[in-house]
Amino acid sequence: MDFKSFTLTSCKNLSLYIHIPFCEHKCYYCDFFSLPGIDKAVMEKTIREIVNQTDFFLQRLGPEKIISVYIGGGTPSILPKSVLKALLQKINTLVSSKPAEFTVEANPESFDEEFISLCAEHGVTRLSVGIQTCSKQLRATLGRRGDVERIQHVLGLIKNKWLGDLNCDLLCGIPGQTLQDVQRDLKTVLALNIAHIALYTLTLEPGTVLHRQHENGLLPWPDHNVQDSLWLYARDLLVKNGYSHYEISNFSLPGKGCLHNIRYWLLKPYIGVGPGAVSTVPAEGGKIVRLSNPLHLPGFLRGTAKSWSMEVELLTQRDIFFEHLMLGFRLKKGIPKRLFHKRFGGELPELIPGLWKEWSERGFIKQSTTAYCLTLRGRLILNRMLTELTQYKIDMSGIKINWP
Ligand code: SF4
Repeated sequence: MDFKSFTLTSCKNLSLYIHIPFCEHKCYYCDFFSLPGIDKAVMEKTIREIVNQTDFFLQRLGPEKIISVYIGGGTPSILPKSVLKALLQKINTLVSSKPAEFTVEANPESFDEEFISLCAEHGVTRLSVGIQTCSKQLRATLGRRGDVERIQHVLGLIKNKWLGDLNCDLLCGIPGQTLQDVQRDLKTVLALNIAHIALYTLTLEPGTVLHRQHENGLLPWPDHNVQDSLWLYARDLLVKNGYSHYEISNFSLPGKGCLHNIRYWLLKPYIGVGPGAVSTVPAEGGKIVRLSNPLHLPGFLRGTAKSWSMEVELLTQRDIFFEHLMLGFRLKKGIPKRLFHKRFGGELPELIPGLWKEWSERGFIKQSTTAYCLTLRGRLILNRMLTELTQYKIDMSGIKINWP
């Protein structure tokens, strides 16, 4: 679809994601779009285009409110302080009213007191720190710099200087990781009473150093059962310590779920700016478009005149229906019935009758008076359920999607 063949329409509430595609070096497991060793001049140029693209979207969509802002990456904390400051100032100017949540991601390796002050002075409400693991040996396996002393130092800084919310990312299922390693990592973060913890299982991604090491027989990969048991152990410990397992990989203290991501899982409209970032926004005639920035910097830096080399996809009713379920089922609370009804004009059990019956009988899905949601059993086998969903024949005739 041609970028000029549609017009974006106004959208009352939006979320804004900003992708900073720079890292100090490439971690061995990483398949995100991130570039190591980029110099300051290129970073400045990229930030200028990120600001231009934010302005472009906001002018066309004219939101009354930006509900949440999330600056992720890559590693936003490696931006030189002058560049980070300029970005935060510009975003604050463009986003006229204060967002309910404003997150910036950081890594311990590039985290200092000045970074905390800059964030605090520019309306950031939440930091997200990629700890992954405190074990020196496991960090070496992952190709992550910074040791346990560095992590302790950073966590100490946060405890003493940061007044906002905090998320920490942790990884389970790293080759060589033991139950004691997981216990130590959890003890470290639980001691801080952190509001939010994202707990992922390490996966082997094609194109990464770990993948090559494994293919060449240099890195035995842990058995899935071992990975699952470590993750489930960590999950149980977090739940015992008062965290709600509110999304497949996310845990929070009461009321501290990540608003930005919850909006994403409920398929609310969002704009994504920066190389590799994606937007899902409304267009004239009830259309829903997905605009994808290129996964390469030169394309993005072609700028406004070339529409940042964005690719455009017109989402079909079927795309929206599947995406809504795939994302919404990730949430423990599930998909609010009111939202579903407003968007699809019907009830979920009526739209997938055969599958609903089968999943209910197998104890995978349930409904309350307010929502459709998976049971814990269902959420633990979410990928299998999504495969069944994509194979299920749904009659979309007569459904008129009303989005957002
Ligand atoms: S810091 Fe994060 S984004 Fe950067 S290379 Fe490592 S895993 Fe990838």
